[in-house]
Amino acid sequence: MFLIVTYHHVVPGRPDGHRKLFVSRDRLREHCLAMSAWPVATTLDAARAAVTPTVVVTFDDGYRNFADEALPVLAETRTPATLFASTGKIGHSVFEPDYGCVQHYLDTEALRLIDKDDLVQVESHGHSHRPLTGLGDQELAAELAAGTTGLAALLGRQPRHFCYPYGDHDDRVVAATAAAGYQTAVTCIDGNNTGAAPALRLCRIAAEAQWTASDLRSVLTAYLGPATWERR
Ligand SMILES: [Zn+2]
Repeated sequence: MFLIVTYHHVVPGRPDGHRKLFVSRDRLREHCLAMSAWPVATTLDAARAAVTPTVVVTFDDGYRNFADEALPVLAETRTPATLFASTGKIGHSVFEPDYGCVQHYLDTEALRLIDKDDLVQVESHGHSHRPLTGLGDQELAAELAAGTTGLAALLGRQPRHFCYPYGDHDDRVVAATAAAGYQTAVTCIDGNNTGAAPALRLCRIAAEAQWTASDLRSVLTAYLGPATWERR
């Protein structure tokens, strides 16, 4: 059994209340310490093979604040994580109407350095971050191929894990993702996963900015059962 916990933006100060996808650096530190009461898997494969209830930490989109704010906390708390990046966004600064401000994305050099460190694996979030179910067959294959080859060229290895943009997937998208060579893929469907869960339809929960360490511990306990030390 494993639970995948998702983050997007990590910011230095207190995030605005309405920004659901933002957590503060201090909050992330609290969360990492809370999660460390369970084993935190280094990769999605390791989580699928784990015999005890395990946590996986993921960050979506590849924002520059991952390197500036999240990575120092992950290093300090020795929390392994997977970072999903869309190749079409790499190095760009984009005005995002949903947030009402410009979002900066990590550049190639930063992503390469992050992936070289054993703590964080960079994996694929597609190329253009479009919802995939609306694409025609050829467009879908091309979108997956662009993300895969772009990331492979950057990292010097094949990406093996995929994150559906907006969690948007159906049977056809899942089949195309398998055909593109991915071992696992994550959705935005709330829930935990058993070792037998379909590898290309993994559930995740989104970490919320207002959750204290104790709130997160309660959530993890509800999904995974008591922390490792409590079961001894
Ligand atoms: Zn995304």
